[in-house]
Amino acid sequence: MKETVLSIRDLSISFKTGNGTVSAIRGVDLDLHQGETLAIVGESGSGKSVTVKAIMGILSGNQAIDSGSITFRYDRDGERVEQDLLKLSKREMRKRINGKRIAMVFQDPMTSLNPTMTVGNQIMEGMILHLKLSRAAAHRRALELLRLVGINDPEKRMKNYPHQLSGGMRQRVVIAIMLACNPEVLICDEPTTALDVTVQAKILELIKDIQRKTNISVIYITHDLGVVAKVADQVAVMYAGKIVERGTVNEIFYDPRHPYTWGLLSSMPDIGTADEKLYSIPGSPPNLLHKVEGDAFAPRNIYALNIDFKQEPPMFKVSDTHYAATWLLHENAPKVEMPPGLRERIDQAVKEAGGIWQDSRSYG
Ligand code: ADP
Ligand code: MG
Repeated sequence: MKETVLSIRDLSISFKTGNGTVSAIRGVDLDLHQGETLAIVGESGSGKSVTVKAIMGILSGNQAIDSGSITFRYDRDGERVEQDLLKLSKREMRKRINGKRIAMVFQDPMTSLNPTMTVGNQIMEGMILHLKLSRAAAHRRALELLRLVGINDPEKRMKNYPHQLSGGMRQRVVIAIMLACNPEVLICDEPTTALDVTVQAKILELIKDIQRKTNISVIYITHDLGVVAKVADQVAVMYAGKIVERGTVNEIFYDPRHPYTWGLLSSMPDIGTADEKLYSIPGSPPNLLHKVEGDAFAPRNIYALNIDFKQEPPMFKVSDTHYAATWLLHENAPKVEMPPGLRERIDQAVKEAGGIWQDSRSYG
């Protein structure tokens, strides 16, 4: 069993707004294992970004952590320590954790880049500050990092400003900056969403390659299941501020149990059907300004049982690594199978030697 680097338990977060309180995160449990990639998937607004911002301690002023813990396990001076990140002040997070042990790549690389500073200085800054490297040593390592992230002519690029680079190159530079201090955890929040498809593929390949070389643990957020199939070891499916299903990438793609996961998989473009969406889940997610009764997905779920509208389902165990929050898994529930079209696609994918589903856009 791999060591768990980060464990989130019973995390609940709400936001005070002019219209009332939004319960954005409603009791999330998650584990990130050493050297693995955990993908968090779900429609826009399901709480993916808020969850990882809580890990980084960078939520906005109107948020409240209503419950929970985020335990981070790491080596400090040769000793294994455990720290609840929610107990650290913003200042301590900045000094001890952020950028140093846990680094984050955002959708828009400009969020992380300083437009008035050269690429080289931005990569070197953290190494000089946190790792106490000399300028010369930091310069050497910056060149190495630029090579690692696949940037040609790194000597020249060191002297460039961000506006002189393409979007894909900027995201590579951000990844180099984030890797500069040898973090234990890299969080990527839709890092390729703003990039075109071929550049996306290269960045995904880069992240996997870095993981093979450094054994870093990665949280990868995306709304694109094609990306998940490419990068993930573990998958957590999020809906309306909760994890509704989690398992290994094979369990989620070949043996999904939650009707929401069925919907997400059914709406994934298939091989040969180029960008054309086969299916989209009807309706829209609930407004979290209002208290959710029962299963938040029930109003959109054609398989919903009466109990779904009244009582929230617990996480039912499918295997040691696979859990889903749906009453359909209760022993007394009627036997409901996934949609036949999805069953066919999965059987087809199992038959084909290629293994996991591939998105028609064929990354990499
Ligand atoms: P996503 O899964 O798309 O990353 P988010 O985590 O960004 O979703 O958002 C989850 C929910 O939290 C959404 O309903 C969003 O409106 C709400 N939310 C996020 N940030 C704030 C904020 N600063 N104030 C009020 N509501 C917020
Ligand atoms: Mg987001």
